[in-house]
Parts: sequence; structure tokens; C-alpha cells
Amino acid sequence: MEFSSKLLENAVNEISQLPGIGKRTALRLVLHLLRQPESQTLHLTNALQDLRTEIKHCKNCHNISDVEICDICRNVNRQQEIICVVEDIRDVMAIESTAQYKGLYHVLGGKISPLDGIGPHNLTINSLVEKVKAGKVKEIIFALSSTMEGDTTNFYIYKQIEKYDVKTSTIARGISVGDELEYADEVTLGRSILNRVPFENSLKSS
Ligand SMILES: [Zn+2]
Repeated sequence: MEFSSKLLENAVNEISQLPGIGKRTALRLVLHLLRQPESQTLHLTNALQDLRTEIKHCKNCHNISDVEICDICRNVNRQQEIICVVEDIRDVMAIESTAQYKGLYHVLGGKISPLDGIGPHNLTINSLVEKVKAGKVKEIIFALSSTMEGDTTNFYIYKQIEKYDVKTSTIARGISVGDELEYADEVTLGRSILNRVPFENSLKSS
């Protein structure tokens, strides 16, 4: 792609770094911005900059948050002793949209995946185990997608906490194997949380 402007080329190159965006799409987006009022581009760049500089991760559940302890963790009406283990914020949003779950979350930040170089120490597993050790957790609900990485991660965590006095369960799989949580419809997902099964049962069936 030949550019008549270095500035245009730089902008296109940066935007085409984003997943799913090739050079042609990047060029279309950049030309679109140039046709819009300058204020729109400023709002966009400010939003992105604030996102990078201001955003925090909740110190309790590790979810993305604007404050040190997120709204969910601070909510006294939620059951503090039940923790649902999820991969990232998209799962929290999906489960929250069902309005069926009143406990807290623990956001791992990924799944164990040796092929991608992600080991247990890259995730927030230690912090979860510490919560269990502290004796304040009655139930851990595994809600990772039922992929091989999800199953591996569940099992790894289970092994770390099975010696403690904590109930472990896994969401009932109305969701077919390999489906990601965020794509499950709200009714199915809500039902699968209410109808969760003891984690040990999921081990026997597989
Ligand atoms: Zn939180």
C-alpha cells in the first residue's frame, strides 16, 4: 500500500495492529475519522488513554474496575462466601446478565495453556487458594468454558483446594463442549448456574 502521507500511513499501521483489522479496513477507519469533526478523534484518543492509565483490577476478585474494590465485591447484599471462578470480565458480564447469581467472582485472567506459554503462575490462582485457606469460602463454582484448557485449569485448582473445607461445584452443562460462556444465552447460562453439580461428579463422567 502506497501512501501519499506519512501521517496517514502511521495511523493506518497502528490501527491495523488490532485483531481482525487489515490494512484496508484500517485505511477506511482512518479516512472516516478524517471526515468527522476533530473532537470525535480527540474523544476516542482520550478514552483509550484513560483506559490505559486509569483502569484498575479489583484487589479482591481481579476483575477490571475503576476502583480498588469493585462494586460486586463491595455489595453487602451478595453472598461473600460463594465464589464463581471465571476466565475474564466477559464471563462476569455474561453471568451478571442472567441475574441468577448472587455470590462473588474470582477472575483468573486466562486458562492454563502450556501451548500458549500460560502456566498457573500467570493466573490469579494463588490468590484464590489464599482465600480458601483463610476459611471464609464455603463454595467454589467452576465456570470456565469446557475446553481442554478449562478442564485442566479446573482440575489444577481443585487439587490445590480439595484438602480444605470447601464445597466445589461446576456449572451444569446445558452449554455444549467448547462453547465459550459469553456466547451462551442468558436463560441457559442462568439455569446452568442454579443447577450446578458437585465438581467430583464432573470428574467421574469424563
Ligand atoms: Zn471485585
